[in-house]
Amino acid sequence: MVKRASWWLVKIHRSYTVEEVSRLLGVSKATVWRWIKNGLVAIQDRKPALISGANLIDFLKSRSRPKQKCALDECYCFTCKSPRKIAFGEAEIDCKNSNIPNMLGLCSICSSLMFKRISKSKLSEISTVLRLTFKQGDEPISNRPPPCLNDHLQQEQDQ
Ligand SMILES: [Zn+2]
Repeated sequence: MVKRASWWLVKIHRSYTVEEVSRLLGVSKATVWRWIKNGLVAIQDRKPALISGANLIDFLKSRSRPKQKCALDECYCFTCKSPRKIAFGEAEIDCKNSNIPNMLGLCSICSSLMFKRISKSKLSEISTVLRLTFKQGDEPISNRPPPCLNDHLQQEQDQ
């Protein structure tokens, strides 16, 4: 992994060659070319290729974000290695095994199964952008006491 690149060294109104970027940020030229392959916008129809400071800053900022944030109707797809919209606008909520529900859906690009943990308080907000189906256990969720209450009762019975 590349160390967190110092985008604040980049001047927004300048254009840089690959060599200049490599010197400025202390990375190899091969790394800069890899960035270009991975989405850094460069003007390549002339030699040397030029990268605008603004594009470079955008790219570095998006890289240095610790986690890519998913929108409400997105999950992180491990196949695409990117947040992806949930296909068909349909997700399944699985609260069977945990107090924190899992939201499952298919990647709109590659159809892989994606999931993320969501907080219950977000459910109503999510249901405005996605059709949600609730995966239920043996009994309806509404009939079950919350798990923490369960533990408490269990302890009292044990004593
Ligand atoms: Zn995908």
